[in-house]
Amino acid sequence: MSAELLAILEKLEKPIAIEERTGCRNFAVIGGFDKYMVAWAKRASELCDGELRQSLDELAKLFVDYSQVDITEKRRRLLHAKILLNRIRQSLNDSLAGSTQTQPTSVPQVSPATEQVTKPTINAVQPENKQTSQGFSGTIVPQRTEPTKLPASRPTVAISQSQISSPRSSVTSPLSLSDSVRYLKGVGPQRAKLLKRLGVETIGDLLHFYPRRYEDRRNLKTLAEVVPGEKVVVQVQVIGNPFTEERKHLLITKVPVGDATGRAFLVWFNQPYMEKKFRIGQRLFVFGKATQVFGQLTFQTPEVEEITGDANLQVGRLVPVYPLTEGLSQNFVRSLVQETVWRAVDRLEETLPETVRQRYNLMLLREALRQIHFPDDDEKLEAARRRIVFDEFLTLQLVLALRKKGIKEHEGIAFQVDWEAVERFIRLLPFELTNDQRKVINEILSDMQKPHPMNRLLHGEVGSGKTVVAAIAMFVAVQNGYQAAFMAPTEILAEQHYRVLQELFRGHEINIVQLVGSLTPANKRKVRMKIREGMAQIIVGTHALIEEATEFYRLGFVVVDEQHRFGVMQRAKLIWKGQSPDVLIMTATPIPRTLALTVYGDLDVSVIRELPPGRQRAKTYWLHTSKRMLAYEFIRKELAKGHQAYVVCPLIEESEKLDDVQSVYRHAEWLQQSVFPDYKVGVLHGRMPGYEKDKIMDAFRCNEIHVLVTTTVIEVGVDVPNATVMVVEDADRFGLAQLHQLRGRVERSEHPCYCVLIADPSTDEARERLRVMTRTNDGFVIAEHDLRLRGPGELLGTRQHGLPDLKLADIIKDVDILMQAKDCAEWIVEIDPHLQRPEHKALREKVESLEGGAELLRVS
Ligand code: ADP
Ligand code: MG
Repeated sequence: MSAELLAILEKLEKPIAIEERTGCRNFAVIGGFDKYMVAWAKRASELCDGELRQSLDELAKLFVDYSQVDITEKRRRLLHAKILLNRIRQSLNDSLAGSTQTQPTSVPQVSPATEQVTKPTINAVQPENKQTSQGFSGTIVPQRTEPTKLPASRPTVAISQSQISSPRSSVTSPLSLSDSVRYLKGVGPQRAKLLKRLGVETIGDLLHFYPRRYEDRRNLKTLAEVVPGEKVVVQVQVIGNPFTEERKHLLITKVPVGDATGRAFLVWFNQPYMEKKFRIGQRLFVFGKATQVFGQLTFQTPEVEEITGDANLQVGRLVPVYPLTEGLSQNFVRSLVQETVWRAVDRLEETLPETVRQRYNLMLLREALRQIHFPDDDEKLEAARRRIVFDEFLTLQLVLALRKKGIKEHEGIAFQVDWEAVERFIRLLPFELTNDQRKVINEILSDMQKPHPMNRLLHGEVGSGKTVVAAIAMFVAVQNGYQAAFMAPTEILAEQHYRVLQELFRGHEINIVQLVGSLTPANKRKVRMKIREGMAQIIVGTHALIEEATEFYRLGFVVVDEQHRFGVMQRAKLIWKGQSPDVLIMTATPIPRTLALTVYGDLDVSVIRELPPGRQRAKTYWLHTSKRMLAYEFIRKELAKGHQAYVVCPLIEESEKLDDVQSVYRHAEWLQQSVFPDYKVGVLHGRMPGYEKDKIMDAFRCNEIHVLVTTTVIEVGVDVPNATVMVVEDADRFGLAQLHQLRGRVERSEHPCYCVLIADPSTDEARERLRVMTRTNDGFVIAEHDLRLRGPGELLGTRQHGLPDLKLADIIKDVDILMQAKDCAEWIVEIDPHLQRPEHKALREKVESLEGGAELLRVS
């Protein structure tokens, strides 16, 4: 079959050249060049399937009305035909070569015709030596399986921005953004799979696959100019046969190279196969640091690229360095991106209205994508980055602005606030409210009075007393005849809130129920019935609240505690159970201002900064594991004063495996027998059934258990003021925010309190975390560090908030751009609330592509 196909390919290729030479007059074949082409292309198409077939059909189509189009169009079609034929030939070769892919045959071929056509348009860089471009595999960096090499196959490829953007792109077959990467040369199923691992499946993905960094290869030197120790690029030729020496069990491969000014060795250790990569006469770029070994200039394990037609892409410029995965070489990815930029970037529609671009002084999108991959200079790179970062922030801010606007326009409940009743409630509390608590209560209650739904974030440090604030808001809701729901992330917390609320509402004739997963089915039914019939006025629970079976009678107020544990969708589900209820979201995760702008931009924010008077901050120490006993000594001292202690083991709640749980028990047993024989040690972990957790927590609360060995189930909100010391085992395995939360568990009283972190950290980052913990108790400072160490994605997970990912934007460094994007988004939503104007089409599509995005734009 392929033999026949190859024969047909030849039949198709030859007349094209003739037709071109004879001035495109449809004369190349007697009986009509066009009919001939259509017929043979169709014949070939019948022999194939898949992509091959598509290409052949595309080819046939080019000639259907060939006789009727003008000469420029005829030229264009011929060119397109040649490109298609090249591609077809190449995939045929690929499939013949099979998966080995190392034969030269699989290297993309350039038909002479293409060279001819492209030459006039680029005044550039033809491989002077085709042998080289075909036989040699470009990258000489240790990846051996890298057969293709961009310059060899792409005489047209060049470098400077003007060239990349040249009319060539319109005369080559353009790629559509949704096309699979399989359309690109050198990408077979294998590589497509590897690219997918990098998140790249389509041409569009590849355009937005940004370099991780850039290598400055502008420092091109001659060998004579090289100063040992300096990082340089040299342009050399292989001047002798590579050889390998053995010395002290070390295989040293040396490649003699030179230029007009001197000589040097390229050296590799224990990679004897490197020998085969080089031949005398080959011209190379060598990147790396030179050293002087026995008076001989040497580049040890340098990065090497063969000089081919496309020299400018590899050197003398800022060269992009992409994230890689095993099996893909830098050079391959670079050339792939380059081909993509070259063939697809002009397909991109500008996404920003001209007015916006001018107002914020932003580069064209096409230009920005070109420059972000192959920058002409630092300034252009910076401008490109700014444009792309702006785009990322703009989408984000549009979503937030739309959400906010949607909420404001919605009709909600206008609660009546009986301020006197509120004051009475406050007077009955066992403590005085702090000023901050009073302030946020005012903010919340005045919001509740407004006729649109409240959507407010209450942020307060661990232990700042958010629960009572929520209780007062719920009190108002209930007084207005509505139900209030309080959702907590864990059963332990729900249980605790239930207990606390019962206490706070004592003597108020308000019916409070608890709905958690571990209730017996009969109890659950009973509770649900109370909720449905309206007997229950305040409902405390876990995710069970948002299950379908839970129906409310008249839900008017929703509290979501420890917001970072829930995604927006979960939040939304609870909200939908009511008729536009007011929503109060509480979090103790300190949120840096910038992050608040990005992720919570749709919320109004209230902050409690003040702690109740007399609260002590935990003194924090870091001990190496060899000093562990000191930590336990410390605990003993606190126990002797009648206080209690936590010992936290590093397990992630959701993934608590049985072995791990057992190791927690073993640790507890050891502590009980060898360290605290005269005290009671208890265990608490996430895999326990709910009633058992309750039992343990109860025992701990009334000081029957003195030392609680626990996993991170206690991370959020657990409140036992008599516990004054916490020891965290393997503390390096916790994140900063988590450690800070944990530490909050012992900062619940007026007693001095302590946190001891036991760890032998192995990374700088972990050391840094521990140091931060010992240095500060300020949640905001910790959050800023966390953001710096981990990046925003992990801290709050934009994904789970239904927000677009930020690929290039850095919410710390790019605050200025963020502010501009926010400003711009609010302005756009103001003038065009449903993004219906034609100039906002691209923005509209972006928003619609996000989860829940379409709803935001719906015209009400
Ligand atoms: P968080 O903000 O971490 O959720 P809580 O609401 O659990 O904090 O409050 C922590 C502890 O502080 C609780 O025991 C609560 O009763 C107590 N508390 C709250 N407000 C005050 C206050 N103004 N004065 C003294 N204690 C308070
Ligand atoms: Mg709390």
